[in-house]
Amino acid sequence: MERFQDDDAGYERWLAGHSDLYVLNTTRTPTPTYLKLHRATCHTIAGVPARGVRWTGEYIKLCGTRAELEHFARTQVGGEVSPCGNCR
Ligand SMILES: [Zn+2]
Repeated sequence: MERFQDDDAGYERWLAGHSDLYVLNTTRTPTPTYLKLHRATCHTIAGVPARGVRWTGEYIKLCGTRAELEHFARTQVGGEVSPCGNCR
């Protein structure tokens, strides 16, 4: 699993190379209340940020397989991932 924080360039490179994997969008200090799971191909987490902000600023991106991200959510954050309504 990789973690992208204040690193939009690295995040975009990862997305380009791992279209078959998943992205967990969460806050800088992950909490059980916001663990949004997207496919790497989801349009809501790529391209130009909706509000013109950075991808890895206020929110960070954890990237890997679905199993890795679900495991992280359970063991490190104490919650369950919430699948995105657009790409699930
Ligand atoms: Zn999505």
